[in-house]
Amino acid sequence: MSHYKIALLDGDGIGPEIMREAVKVLNLVAERNQVTFDLQHTPFGASAYFECGHPFPEQTQKVCDEADAILKGPIGLNHEDSKKIPVDLQPERGALLPLRRRYNTYANFRPVFLPQGLAHFSPLKKEIIGDGVDIMIIRELVGGLYFGEKETGTTEDGVRYVRETLEYDEEQIRRIAKVAFDTASKRKKVLHNIHKSNVLKSSVLWNEVIEEVGKDYPDVKIEHILVDAAATYLCLNPGRFDVMVMENMFGDILSDQGGGILGSLGLMPSACIGDDKAYYEPSHGSAPDIAGKNVANPYSMIGSVAMMLEFSLGMEEEARNVWHAMQSVFADGYSTPDLSKPGSDVKMIDTEAFGDRVIAAL
Ligand code: ATP
Ligand code: MG
Repeated sequence: MSHYKIALLDGDGIGPEIMREAVKVLNLVAERNQVTFDLQHTPFGASAYFECGHPFPEQTQKVCDEADAILKGPIGLNHEDSKKIPVDLQPERGALLPLRRRYNTYANFRPVFLPQGLAHFSPLKKEIIGDGVDIMIIRELVGGLYFGEKETGTTEDGVRYVRETLEYDEEQIRRIAKVAFDTASKRKKVLHNIHKSNVLKSSVLWNEVIEEVGKDYPDVKIEHILVDAAATYLCLNPGRFDVMVMENMFGDILSDQGGGILGSLGLMPSACIGDDKAYYEPSHGSAPDIAGKNVANPYSMIGSVAMMLEFSLGMEEEARNVWHAMQSVFADGYSTPDLSKPGSDVKMIDTEAFGDRVIAAL
């Protein structure tokens, strides 16, 4: 009987609510596959700071080190509450980036996926969204501006300034490029490389390395596209994209835009993959505006479970079952409030009821 240790970082805001639904799915998957999941809840994010004085406490580091896979809820506070935490212990700076650095999870897979039959959820016109959208955003996750050196200060004239650096070396670009080409070669064999080489030197090196790596994948066509233009096309013609690769900050922004074209960030799960360790998380934040109300969409969290089953636990068939179960809930006409717009005939259900329907469908 296989036995897996899974670290569960519930996180902040809606984190614990959507994690609860993900755990139901994990328990059912374990039961019917005769595997055991040793689920260890451990504090992370702002809640960990208030509980133990650090957003990524040592006990959590230990649980994660020993885990076969990590499932992480969203973290963060609203603008006002975040002032209660010192700048360097903010959940993103003090926990999320250190988590990514610790396990070197450089490849972030962010599917922007709306299956057939659910295109009505998209805010885009029918002529634009067609039968749905199926894009895989591959975001570099441990380099670029988010990890570069930072300095703040005041000049002799009393003017406050800040300096942040965007750094990549060719090895960092090469490894994410390989992930992107491997993914593209298993899909439609087109890779959209997102850059800003008319302004940023980092993009010049990025593009060179993409082309070098591309020589090993002669069947994959490379399309270079400026990030600003890509933002427009995502709204006007998302069907032109299949696999997109980009640096850290571009990926943060364009993947949220991806959630926008689906109709809700609640439809955005993700996988963060390193050479030896991976963790899984919704792409969105902790949604403080709807926390504690049992209305958040748990699709992003349960979808992250499906990605974990596929990428880390070798349970591809169960991963597919979980996706299908979630899609069947929508296909039956139910949804959490983020997707059920006034006047539509979608039947509104809460977070827990969504989870229960997924379990029933499974
Ligand atoms: P971060 O910087 O941490 O990514 P953010 O500022 O991008 O956070 P989010 O917390 O992602 O903001 O929320 C953006 C909007 O999306 C909010 O209105 C929030 O309620 C909504 N949202 C995010 N996740 C969900 C979800 N799972 N279900 C429903 N609505 C959600
Ligand atoms: Mg965001």
